[in-house]
Amino acid sequence: MPTKSQRRMNRKFVRTPSGSRMRFVQKKNSKSECALCQGILHGVPHSRTTAERRALSKSSRRPSALFAGVLCGNCRETVLEECAKVKSGVKPLEDVSLALKPYIRQIENKVMV
Ligand SMILES: [Zn+2]
Repeated sequence: MPTKSQRRMNRKFVRTPSGSRMRFVQKKNSKSECALCQGILHGVPHSRTTAERRALSKSSRRPSALFAGVLCGNCRETVLEECAKVKSGVKPLEDVSLALKPYIRQIENKVMV
């Protein structure tokens, strides 16, 4: 009978010399999601524990693009487009949607033009 902690684990059947045995394995963490659209982030590992992820090198934990590990590629593109519009004076900052505003402020602080 599985113990209380084993009840929430995944069951895996392993072949042994005497037949097959049931093993309990930890579930993987869920994949990282985009902060705006909740889509899956590419290039971000989803290993079992935080310690396993911390053991990886910095470059293998997330891509090196702007907002990588936070926003997906499509959302990053829209944020950068809106930021360019605000910078060039085509669109005032008040007209930008509230969800995008914090990212535009971060870009303004990072990129000094
Ligand atoms: Zn997204």
